[in-house]
Amino acid sequence: MFGLKQPTETREHTGSYYAASANWQTNYPTLQGIHNTDVAIVGGGFTGVNTALELAERGFQVTLIEANKISWGATGRNGGQIIGGIGHSLNRFEKYVGQQGLRAIYDMGVECTNIIRERVARYDIDCDLTWGYCDVALKPRHLREFEAEKSYQERMGYPHPLELLDRDQIQQEVNSPIYLGGLLNRQGNGHCHVLNLCLGEARAAETLGAKIFENSRVTRLVEGTHPEVHTDSGIVKAKHVVLCGNAYLGDLVPTMSARIMPSNSSVITTEPLSAAQAKSIMPGNRAVCDPRTALDYFRLTADNRLLFGGLSNYTGREPSDLFGVMRGKLEKVFPQLAGVKLEHGWSGQMGIGINRMPQLGRLNGNVYYIQAYSGHGVAPTHMMARITAEMIAGQAERFDVFAKIPHWPFPGGKWLRTPSFALAMLYYKIRDEL
Ligand SMILES: Cc1cc2nc3c(=O)[nH]c(=O)nc-3n(C[C@H](O)[C@H](O)[C@H](O)COP(=O)(O)OP(=O)(O)OC[C@H]3O[C@@H](n4cnc5c(N)ncnc54)[C@H](O)[C@@H]3O)c2cc1C
Repeated sequence: MFGLKQPTETREHTGSYYAASANWQTNYPTLQGIHNTDVAIVGGGFTGVNTALELAERGFQVTLIEANKISWGATGRNGGQIIGGIGHSLNRFEKYVGQQGLRAIYDMGVECTNIIRERVARYDIDCDLTWGYCDVALKPRHLREFEAEKSYQERMGYPHPLELLDRDQIQQEVNSPIYLGGLLNRQGNGHCHVLNLCLGEARAAETLGAKIFENSRVTRLVEGTHPEVHTDSGIVKAKHVVLCGNAYLGDLVPTMSARIMPSNSSVITTEPLSAAQAKSIMPGNRAVCDPRTALDYFRLTADNRLLFGGLSNYTGREPSDLFGVMRGKLEKVFPQLAGVKLEHGWSGQMGIGINRMPQLGRLNGNVYYIQAYSGHGVAPTHMMARITAEMIAGQAERFDVFAKIPHWPFPGGKWLRTPSFALAMLYYKIRDEL
């Protein structure tokens, strides 16, 4: 009988810097019994929470069901880099969406960072939001790519100035001996405390009437025009369901899991550095990425730690020596930090799709899904949530642009996709080194 079974497992946040410095702990109830709602949302990361918020802002009755804690997945574990743009290499998709569709996707890539800017201001969210981002070049060909990128953005009318930096100028932003130059974006991209951002967004949704449940894994989905989601102890009957479990959704819907590769990335933070030391390594306090497929990404936190992340291996699993592997990467970029004390280390799963464009679509009846940001989701999640809410509210135009893009299953199915991915990553790593 529903309502009688007590939860047997409480899944707390991973031991991250974010969890250790969260503004508050959420303690939403476990789903019990039968509930009716306009929209049931499965998954409480940026995608699910922002879909809930967008819908609650439009007056829908929303019920969000999270298997663990709000922001427990990639959302509460990532590098905190807010980077505009949706997907990678947009022009590849012209044959599916046309010139107009490409323009719409480009514009959404600008809008997505603005959503965060507006949301933080409107709901007064305390999340260390800091603007400023820099791509860094390891090879002369990266500098040529940055020049091409700057020209492309200018042709498209990107609203923030971009500056090319040479070897001397990059030192004023990132004091590392390994970079040849960079592309600086002072206002359009940035970084923040992602767990606190998502907690603030969840609280905003709750204030607008959204019901939130934690420790409630959805184990069964009933598709159709009267969809339902079931957990061990409850059922939500809805007019619409939106699936936002991404890399952690498992096999709830096999056609979705076949199109996504859960892939591991790991992050470490140092102990707080002195203000002088922090300024000396990252004078510009920007979020930083290099252009490789298995990239390094890093930034300072508000309490002057260096937060440093990277794709740690090609098997999709956390490395057994996480601190050792990640320290090696950090000290290659900043040899002056050799031996620095590391205080937090953790990993998370991101959903990778074959064409690296977020996957949005509709299953049978009123069931929608959003997944596969391919490592670049902090800002895009906010956009995909908005257009899914628009779709449910009756404006399908922007959702339909994405729904036109086909997404193929990974070859080899569930068992062979990991070795195939490892091989593909190895290919890209070799190519990156040339
Ligand atoms: C280590 C790491 C570093 C990253 N760095 C960056 C970065 O710096 N910048 C950037 O733009 N992107 C980054 N990303 C990617 C970004 O974090 C993700 O794209 C984004 O957070 C995805 O959000 P989401 O809500 O779709 O998924 P998630 O945050 O993973 O949330 C999914 C949620 O669904 C829940 N769930 C799953 N199945 C069920 C179920 N059956 N029932 C109920 N709940 C369920 C999970 O518990 C989870 O909380 C990084 C990712 C990782 C892992």
